[in-house]
Amino acid sequence: MARTAIIGGNWKMNLDLSGATQLAAQIRNQLGSNRTAEVVVFPPSPFLAPVSSKIRGSAVALGAQDIHAKESGAFTGAMSGPMARSVGCTWTLVGHSERRSLFGDTDADVAAKLTAALDCGLSPILCIGESLQEREAGRTFDVLGRQLQVLSSFRPGALSSLVLAYEPVWAIGTGVTATPAQAQEAHAWVRDRIGSMFGAAFAHDLRIQYGGSMKPANAAELLGCPDIDGGLIGGASLDARSFYRIVMAGAAHGSRLNNSMGAR
Ligand code: PEP
Repeated sequence: MARTAIIGGNWKMNLDLSGATQLAAQIRNQLGSNRTAEVVVFPPSPFLAPVSSKIRGSAVALGAQDIHAKESGAFTGAMSGPMARSVGCTWTLVGHSERRSLFGDTDADVAAKLTAALDCGLSPILCIGESLQEREAGRTFDVLGRQLQVLSSFRPGALSSLVLAYEPVWAIGTGVTATPAQAQEAHAWVRDRIGSMFGAAFAHDLRIQYGGSMKPANAAELLGCPDIDGGLIGGASLDARSFYRIVMAGAAHGSRLNNSMGAR
């Protein structure tokens, strides 16, 4: 199966209502009916419904930046998976490094949110990645292995909608990007580990995005790596033109894979 590139725009806690709906409309218009790469935007929760209206019927999908593990209840300030679904989300991020480091999401929380997403039919993008300190201590693969353990309680059949995002924490929002060699090494390691957990065919078909200061200037090189199947974009996703250029680099990655690997 060919791995269609998937490009996500994580708007984080940015924009206001008019900025968010304008950006959504610009992305929708630039993309037109082009579906050579899959595109998902992750607006702040107050703008999910209005952005959903702007992109309905278009090639742009909607995702939540985070969901709570429970469906409903006394969890002030939180949003559940079914709530996200009800305003048009088909995707959610799970375990973004900012959730882990700033909001204290543990591996157990990440596992619970993953279950919640799958239970309500949201496709999860599970974010993993090491800090600078962990990389410098030579612990990158220990950390990635530990973060991937949250998948171990699932059967592969339950994870058919899963996408992974390898996001080295030291590259997020810093302007420092992993080199293509560093990113490819980590992606290949992750795919291999997934293969030992769920089998080679599952690992082969799984899409793994890279995230961390991806921008138009470095997207083509990163997305040209054989195990990088898309990008999760923060800063550069707030500018429709920059985001579109990254999407087009992702689309080229898909056709390269199809040409060079046939039925991959
Ligand atoms: C992110 O938040 O997932 C991200 C990759 O951000 P940035 O592109 O700004 O580094």
